[in-house]
Amino acid sequence: MTPRAHEVKVRDVVAETGDAVTVSFDIPEDLAPRFRYQPGQFLTVRVPSDRTGSVARCYSLSSSPHCEDRLAVTVKRTAGGYGSNWICDNLESGDLIGVLEPAGVFTPRSLDEDLLLFAAGSGVTPIMSIAKSVLAAGTGDVVVVYANRDADAVIFGNEFDRLTQRFPQRLTVRHWLENERGLPTVAGLVELARDHRDHDVFLCGPTGFTAVTLAALGQLGIPEQRVHREQYRSLTDNPFEHTAPAATPTPTGAGKDTATVRVEIDGETHMLNWPRDTKLLDMLLDHGIDAPYVCRESACGTCVCSVKSGRTRMLMNESLIDDELAAGLTLACQTLPESDQLHIAFDQ
Ligand SMILES: Cc1cc2nc3c(=O)[nH]c(=O)nc-3n(C[C@H](O)[C@H](O)[C@H](O)COP(=O)(O)OP(=O)(O)OC[C@H]3O[C@@H](n4cnc5c(N)ncnc54)[C@H](O)[C@@H]3O)c2cc1C
Repeated sequence: MTPRAHEVKVRDVVAETGDAVTVSFDIPEDLAPRFRYQPGQFLTVRVPSDRTGSVARCYSLSSSPHCEDRLAVTVKRTAGGYGSNWICDNLESGDLIGVLEPAGVFTPRSLDEDLLLFAAGSGVTPIMSIAKSVLAAGTGDVVVVYANRDADAVIFGNEFDRLTQRFPQRLTVRHWLENERGLPTVAGLVELARDHRDHDVFLCGPTGFTAVTLAALGQLGIPEQRVHREQYRSLTDNPFEHTAPAATPTPTGAGKDTATVRVEIDGETHMLNWPRDTKLLDMLLDHGIDAPYVCRESACGTCVCSVKSGRTRMLMNESLIDDELAAGLTLACQTLPESDQLHIAFDQ
């Protein structure tokens, strides 16, 4: 099991709607530094399974590091799904459960910027964390466009009402209920977003909602590259069931065409040979270096790192936007070397 996995105690489980619960955790004091997080990040939960030992499922933190001392995720049942139903049916206060440390890049750069947040269904969890954080600790204005099947399906309805009363000048929440208005439309979303096109955009919801929102933003002249997106999906990989990295480096790259890379991670510096056909994350794990990762498919952003010098290329990228790429960020699980000498830092 990766050293980034820990067993933590469930503090409580609270029903939000008929099919969603918020699970909060007690983090022991010695682990508190490892569980610091930014609004919009997620935890990966180890869900026990008789069939496979466990499955790993990601859940965005719905709590805010700026106004709550607890960490909490909010899980909505997926029809026929294994992990979400197991959590909703089984987890109780006092249970111990395996989780990976917080991760992800779906986070605002500054809490002082104005934000336009789009959520549908359980996609509201990181949106709630971001909204609460900006209101409590920043100066930005927040506009939330939130789509649901009907009023009963709205998660955090009361909390949004309370926040709107407390911050009437800074928070606007626009609900879109499908039983009243049908599925969200491009024209309808354009209308709701029209006055906020200069805001930074965060979007989290199912594929159909994402597509219609991107089309609306496109009509408003907001390019996809400016839109931060979180895509919910179940992991195929399981970081909880992998064996710990080897203690001594294996001779990865011996006799192969390699680049030379200096890697800074967890306060240590490693000089390594990096085979040109091997992804950065795989090369580090081969050397017994405990690099952070969850999905290995470029979707979750956990393995994000900075290219300080040298050129690299990514095979796939589903989580970094243009600004982040321009700032030199890359995803270790998809990165190959181009230059002969490189310098990479896990400093995000
Ligand atoms: C970054 C990120 C953040 C997310 N945040 C949230 C969030 O805040 N809230 C939220 O609700 N969701 C969130 N999700 C989605 C979440 O991770 C899951 O994808 C979702 O809960 C559905 O998982 P599921 O296991 O219930 O369903 P599925 O993945 O559809 O479950 C079915 C799968 O489980 C397998 N399976 C069935 N039975 C068993 C068994 N006994 N043992 C082992 N495997 C079995 C099946 O083969 C099938 O592959 C997030 C996803 C990501 C990537």
